[in-house]
Amino acid sequence: MSTARNVPLPIWLLATACGGVLGGVTYGLSQVPSASVVSALSLGAAIILFFYFSERKALKSIGARLQVAAQQSSIIEAINGLSADNSELVRTVQHHAKDMRDLLENLTDAVIIVDQDATVSKINEAALGFFNIASFQKQSLIEITRSPKLQRLAEEAKLGTKTKEEIVLPRSKITAKVLATPRHDGGAMLVMRDVTKVRRLERVRRDFVANVSHELRTPVSILSANTETLLEGDVPGDIAKKLLESSQRNSLRLAQLIADLLDLAKLESGTFGNPPESIDVSEMLHQVVALLKNKVNTKEQDIVISGDELSIWADRLAAEQVFYNFINNAINYIPQGGRIEIRLSQLANSGKVAVNDNGPGIAPKHRARIFERFYRVDPGRSKELGGTGLGLSICKHLVENNNGEIGYDTSDLGGACFWATFPLATS
Ligand code: ADP
Repeated sequence: MSTARNVPLPIWLLATACGGVLGGVTYGLSQVPSASVVSALSLGAAIILFFYFSERKALKSIGARLQVAAQQSSIIEAINGLSADNSELVRTVQHHAKDMRDLLENLTDAVIIVDQDATVSKINEAALGFFNIASFQKQSLIEITRSPKLQRLAEEAKLGTKTKEEIVLPRSKITAKVLATPRHDGGAMLVMRDVTKVRRLERVRRDFVANVSHELRTPVSILSANTETLLEGDVPGDIAKKLLESSQRNSLRLAQLIADLLDLAKLESGTFGNPPESIDVSEMLHQVVALLKNKVNTKEQDIVISGDELSIWADRLAAEQVFYNFINNAINYIPQGGRIEIRLSQLANSGKVAVNDNGPGIAPKHRARIFERFYRVDPGRSKELGGTGLGLSICKHLVENNNGEIGYDTSDLGGACFWATFPLATS
């Protein structure tokens, strides 16, 4: 029977079982003999099979719907899972974006992002400083930076070439090491590092080595030429005397130069100096002036000390060397019969000593470099006076090592005013 073959085994079993139950119930109720039991069982099975065949379609559709519902619920579960993953992903991306923004803003390197059409789309805080800009407005790279060189580097990067170059930026005059890299969207990224200080220090070091060689070579060549002439013999007495005097001058200069260079080396390595102590400034200045009295008298100069009673806290030898240098320079550079006024004043936390003179002073264009090593306004005059060009730079180190400040002003006497401050002994 084809219909019976199409009925699934579980339905047969169910029908048989239910038929059995129904039959059993019928038997129990009617209390009929065993033939009636069989017919009751058959009746039960027939009833179940009837229901199965008549509702088969509906059952199938319910089953299908249940299956769809089960599938749908697992899809919903999967979607829920995906949506949770997605929110986590969005949060992570947001965190990364914030980290990137913070990183960009806190970088000391300047960063500029340029679009394909050469418009600047992002610029960090450091870059605003590099180009002296108060705030960012969407403009072209050239409008923002005013640098054709940067423009060229950005163009090269946009074409896919990564370039490194060092350039001086317009307006700020910063020496910047630029790295220009292509971006995935056809734009470019420019990263700039300020190397102005490093380059300046390298230049100072190079100049220093060149200067030392030059300064040492001059007296050494004079000494060797003088001795050579004297050794040749037959040098008239007056010329021999002049040669010996010149040799003495140059050997003294050489000795002074070596002493100054050693002081500088010690100051820079931090091995110069003694512990600070309380110093009566007026007393120290009188001692220094006494050391220079002969020179002052020869040049018929006037030298006075005035102002507050000061007690400073400093290394005695350092303070003495600074005051000696200021006063000795004033004596050297002012004319015969000139005037020097040493003024003492007490400031909030320090004592100030200012050495004023009525000499030529220092022209504004030299002032920024006057405390540099070997910097002289008039090199010929300085050498003639036995100067090494190192005095003021040594003073600067000495004052700063003692927590003070050093500076230059134009004096109301018409010439120079070199001043230094030191902490007060009581503060
Ligand atoms: P130097 O050994 O040449 O005197 P310093 O470092 O002491 O070296 O001084 C540097 C330069 O500063 C000098 O060469 C001089 O040109 C200038 N200078 C220093 N003091 C005075 C001053 N009182 N008046 C004018 N020029 C000065």
